[in-house]
Amino acid sequence: MIITIDGKACECEKGEFLLQVAKRNGIDIPTLCHHDGLPGQAACRVCLVEVKDGGRSQVTASCVFPVDHEIEVSTNSRKVKEERGMVLALLRMRAPGSEVIANMCEAYGAPKIGRLKPVVDGDKCILCGLCKRACASLGNGAIETLMRGTQKYVGTPYDQPSADCIGCGSCAEVCPTGAIEMKDEKGVRTIWGSEFRLVYCRECGKLIGTEEYMKAAGNTDDLCDDC
Ligand code: SF4
Repeated sequence: MIITIDGKACECEKGEFLLQVAKRNGIDIPTLCHHDGLPGQAACRVCLVEVKDGGRSQVTASCVFPVDHEIEVSTNSRKVKEERGMVLALLRMRAPGSEVIANMCEAYGAPKIGRLKPVVDGDKCILCGLCKRACASLGNGAIETLMRGTQKYVGTPYDQPSADCIGCGSCAEVCPTGAIEMKDEKGVRTIWGSEFRLVYCRECGKLIGTEEYMKAAGNTDDLCDDC
């Protein structure tokens, strides 16, 4: 099937998501809460596009929009620019400490919203949930969304070091706004208030993971995939 994105004819399979099709065809759609290894969730709504179908048009999140017939898509129409700008402006209120969001606001012309106050000064988290999902599928289900409403945040149960955390770092790696602090220093990784001894490949010295991660993965050999 062929769909048109920004005037370019793009081949796609029925059921493929618009974001996927655009990426494969070299068309850039900004995202925050998307990771290629996990299903789309439309949590941040930065990946908005305008879909024209017959006489109708709608602005929608491209990461969860499955293609099932020929459509015309615009990633940069006036409507998309306005709505994406507003989404980013609101995310800036939620995460005023994130340089990533600040840069995106500038790049995509997010308007200033003077009458709203930042939810938490200096916070970098947009509560997209990507870290939690990465931990559930690649880590060990060690982090959760805590509290409710404007008090909501992501953390370990009772904000205490979690026995479930294996220090794999997946949560910090997928976090789009740099909100999760992880430090590797002198052979030790510090994350979520816990410390983990790091394991390096005995042949080439490349970092393989933490001892707990290796144990969980059933890996008893300190050799990296290349060696
Ligand atoms: S470092 Fe801990 S919290 Fe983060 S993904 Fe790995 S197991 Fe989960």
